[in-house]
Amino acid sequence: MSLRTLKVIFGAVAVCFLLASAYIAVLVAERQRVLGDLTHYNPAWQASQAVAEFMRLERRLDALNVPGRGVDKEEVELRFEILLSRAKLLIEGRFQSIIQDDADQLAALRRLAEVLVLIQPLIAELEHPGAVQQALQLLEPLEPKLLQLASYAQIRGGERIAQDQHELNRLYWIFSGLSVGLILLGLILIGLFSRHNQLLERAHGDLHALTGRLAHAASHDALTGLANRTLFHEQLEAHLTRWRQKGIRFAALCLDLDRFKSVNDTLGHEIGDALLKVAADRLRNCLRDGDTVARLGGDEFAILQEVSGGLEPCTALARHLVEQLSAPYSVDGREIVIGASIGIAPVEAAIVSADQMLKRADLALYEAKSQGRGMFCYFEPGMEARLDARRSLEIDLRKALANDEFELFFQPQVNLKLNQINGFEALLRWRHPTWGKISPAEYIPIAEEIGLISPLGEWVIRTACAEAVKWPREIKVAVNLSPVQFRSGTLVHSVRHALERTGLPPRRLELELTETSLLDETEATMAALHELRRLGVRIAIDDFGTGYSSLSYLRSFPFDRIKLDRSFVRDLASRRDAMTIVQSIASLGAGLGMATVAEGIETKEQLLQVQTAGFTEAQGYYFGRPKPARELVYSLDAARSAPSA
Ligand code: C2E
Ligand code: MG
Ligand code: MG
Repeated sequence: MSLRTLKVIFGAVAVCFLLASAYIAVLVAERQRVLGDLTHYNPAWQASQAVAEFMRLERRLDALNVPGRGVDKEEVELRFEILLSRAKLLIEGRFQSIIQDDADQLAALRRLAEVLVLIQPLIAELEHPGAVQQALQLLEPLEPKLLQLASYAQIRGGERIAQDQHELNRLYWIFSGLSVGLILLGLILIGLFSRHNQLLERAHGDLHALTGRLAHAASHDALTGLANRTLFHEQLEAHLTRWRQKGIRFAALCLDLDRFKSVNDTLGHEIGDALLKVAADRLRNCLRDGDTVARLGGDEFAILQEVSGGLEPCTALARHLVEQLSAPYSVDGREIVIGASIGIAPVEAAIVSADQMLKRADLALYEAKSQGRGMFCYFEPGMEARLDARRSLEIDLRKALANDEFELFFQPQVNLKLNQINGFEALLRWRHPTWGKISPAEYIPIAEEIGLISPLGEWVIRTACAEAVKWPREIKVAVNLSPVQFRSGTLVHSVRHALERTGLPPRRLELELTETSLLDETEATMAALHELRRLGVRIAIDDFGTGYSSLSYLRSFPFDRIKLDRSFVRDLASRRDAMTIVQSIASLGAGLGMATVAEGIETKEQLLQVQTAGFTEAQGYYFGRPKPARELVYSLDAARSAPSA
């Protein structure tokens, strides 16, 4: 039963109760009246008293002058007075209502009144001769009439009493019924009250639970159930206060999932959400009691870790977190690999606020991300200045394309069998008005982040094709692609457009993509690759060996070339295993029918080693550094003897 229904019933019962009470009040008044009638008014008795007095008067008059009877005038007068008062009761009282239906009785009563008036002077002068006789003559004829009146009154009085008793009986039963009803209503009311109380208590309990849930929702993240930014901030303030008062040390860790955005963009938000939940569980499992973990928003998390002594526990936790969060995720039947970067800000006397501490952890996180993913960094004072520098770089980068500050350099790629240049790799150069030449490794990630890579990439493809079309023979041009360009959806169109505008045969254009472009191996990426292949464009996999499970990518698409990352070539002189890797990649390429390019060849010895290993092509400073288009030479000898750029 709802509270509302209960209120309606309660209201109805209360109204019934009031009405019943009012009715009982009326009944009580009625009963009073009837009782009054019964007690104060007995017509039969009044009539018999009057008749008895009448006859007593007659007897006294009769005996007045008889010697020895002992009746004197005073006694007669007294009896007359008594009769007068009795008769007055009959004549003036409610007695008349008893006899009003009977004309004879009314006449008898009237005659009694007349006779009393007539005999009054006679009673006053009883000593006069004949007065007694005269009075008796007046009284005598009235006697039978009065006796009849008394008997009539007796009968009617009895009837009236019976009627009143009946009425009393009726009132008694109504009263009793109502009393029982009132008692029942009272009981119902008590029942309703207790039910009402029960419901109120339950509502109170529900309200309490709801308030609790609301408070939890206000301080926790709905998706992962972790603390939210507000609660984290409060906890951070509390930790700071404890540190100041009791010296309990702690550190704030800011954590960001690497490549989460690309999972979200390519696999959809549902998969992204599911991934975040698993990541949140892994985070929880890495912490000890007393540590706090919160989701600040998106793929950003933060941790408060209590540390006693040195910072080793922080380092250990950060390492553990990176390791745990980088383990493959299985979501909705898919295996997903992401990573995590962490910034750590240990508490220090110089920290004045929670915001400042969080900002420090954030700056350290930023540094960790810019050093490559899957890293953790401690806050250092120079970071703020570096971030400012990056911000101003970002602003300049937005203007650079329009200001014509970019230029393409080209580095030769050599066919080792024919011993001739068979292509050039286009490498982007930015001449910053203040800072001069800036490395692409510095600004390409920024351009990717701020959404500038697509227009910039289009410019690179257009410019590279426009240059390459001027080159002799079938010399190819290789253009680097960012994974973000694959996600933009306009890549195929811009390649086709560049080829059409410049007239470069598609077979002379090669697109280089790194393993990270293939990490998401989505249908869209694969469709774009196949479409590019249909255009006749060649596809190379760049920096091979630096990513994750490289071999699986080789099966996912028939690449034209594999470009071995230069770190393997660099290690050839110092590490024995480097040669083994170089050899196996050369034979892998040969087995798959793909050309193999060794990058970063700087010395003749390195060249001989990769040649011996079976590499079909090579690229590096040994053959020529990247140069502006106007300085290009197309023969190997000329290239090697040309001055460095
Ligand atoms: P990458 O595609 O692997 O390019 C080769 C990089 O190695 C170039 O660096 C090149 O100058 C350098 N290099 C070549 N030979 C040697 C050598 O013998 N020794 C050493 N130490 N380095 C050598 P660069 O030009 O600084 O480019 C760095 C990276 O920036 C490129 O690596 C590429 O991933 C990216 N990049 C360059 N231009 C573009 C572009 O137009 N678009 C995109 N998306 N990325 C680009
Ligand atoms: Mg490249
Ligand atoms: Mg490379």
